[in-house]
Amino acid sequence: MKTNKSDIMEIMEQIVSFTKERDWDQFHNGKDLALALSIEAAELNEAFLWKKAEEVNIEKIKEELADIFNYAFLIANKYDLDIKKIISDKITNNANKYPIEKSKGSARKYTEL
Ligand SMILES: [Mg+2]
Repeated sequence: MKTNKSDIMEIMEQIVSFTKERDWDQFHNGKDLALALSIEAAELNEAFLWKKAEEVNIEKIKEELADIFNYAFLIANKYDLDIKKIISDKITNNANKYPIEKSKGSARKYTEL
């Protein structure tokens, strides 16, 4: 997967433009955006409910994942966050919490390594 800053900016512009054209920013406070993201995550879970993972409808996954990304981008925009930086920082933090020599092939939480 190749994503660069201009891809992120392009997506953000599309999402923000969509929202502004409908005057929906008035509804998009941080709390409700977070709730909406959580609800979309639940809809993603619903796609798997009562099925084996391999039976999931990939079109439903695409739809719900796009909803999740949409709200995640709106939250980042609301708080003027640099998406590339916050993801990169989180990966660095996770790499420190999960050193390869301790975590490779293990599903244990970092507190149990
Ligand atoms: Mg949805």
